[in-house]
Amino acid sequence: MKSNPKAQDLFRPFFGREASFEEAFPEIEKLSIEVTESEAGFHNFHKTSYDKEHPPGEFINCSNPVCYGGGFRIGMILSEIVRKKQTELNDSACCGGYEGSAKGRKRYRSCVHYFQFSIKIKYKEVEPCQTQQQSSSHQ
Ligand SMILES: [Zn+2]
Repeated sequence: MKSNPKAQDLFRPFFGREASFEEAFPEIEKLSIEVTESEAGFHNFHKTSYDKEHPPGEFINCSNPVCYGGGFRIGMILSEIVRKKQTELNDSACCGGYEGSAKGRKRYRSCVHYFQFSIKIKYKEVEPCQTQQQSSSHQ
């Protein structure tokens, strides 16, 4: 069976614009993301891991074949933690898609998949020329 299009298939620009992962997050030295996708009430887990060489797209797609537009927006979560210089985050997100017809016109029910994810980031050392200069005091 052909799978319905997922969030990443419907969302073209990468991280809000056309950019490579390196361009979007130049401050990241090392990245490790583990995602466990589960279906509510079932024990069929689907584990995926990503690193800087194999980063996710703006969205991590849902694996439910009948889910339309499914997945969750890891790109936005990443932008947020990079902005806060957070090094670790463990959280979960529900699939944003729904089970429906291939073009998304018919909606049967919300997708029951959810994602537990753990993100670890190591930031690049700030180069000496970029560190803030101590402002000279008057004393
Ligand atoms: Zn889904």
